[in-house]
Amino acid sequence: MDIKKIYMDADALLHGHFKLSSGNHSEYYLQSAKVLEDPKTAKLLADALAKEIQVSGIEIDTVCAPALGGLIAGFALATALDKRSIFAERVGGEMTIRRGFEIRPGEKVLICEDIITTGGSALEAAKVVEEMGGEVVAFAALANRGFCHRENSDIERKPNCKLPTDKPFFALADFAFEMYTPEECPLCKAGSEAVKPGSRGN
Ligand code: ZN
Repeated sequence: MDIKKIYMDADALLHGHFKLSSGNHSEYYLQSAKVLEDPKTAKLLADALAKEIQVSGIEIDTVCAPALGGLIAGFALATALDKRSIFAERVGGEMTIRRGFEIRPGEKVLICEDIITTGGSALEAAKVVEEMGGEVVAFAALANRGFCHRENSDIERKPNCKLPTDKPFFALADFAFEMYTPEECPLCKAGSEAVKPGSRGN
């Protein structure tokens, strides 16, 4: 399966000259929600990710997704794995699990995101699961931004990856494109101007 082509076809991987929320510039931008707007694509991706997780032999009771980004991916993955689906959400900036979701002692939980960049939200959700008595057994995302090491990839972990090193991270592809400070951006040097993704109301 050509994940990059699926993202490109869905206009989820934009090519141009972008100003990211971090202030850095990039030639690419991932609009991860776009790839999931077609439920058939969401199912295709979740099925492929589920297969990779099943092949690993890891045992899972529940998929927990940090809202908002992970919601659709988490639900689709739980459907493909035929497991329970719950989510964590931020309340006043703090990650919590509410809505009556319970976690029984020792429940094996996989944390699922749409894209793992540094894994910050995923790690916060994992901490909440553990505080509630669950056991976080793995992390998963449709795509890896290239800072963390996923199973079956040569891409090495970078210092800014926040995921724990003792738990597997499953994803379908690496999107390890370069980021530049505005001063060193080759696109700026070539005379083009960076645009903010979403500046046209999307
Ligand atoms: Zn630039």
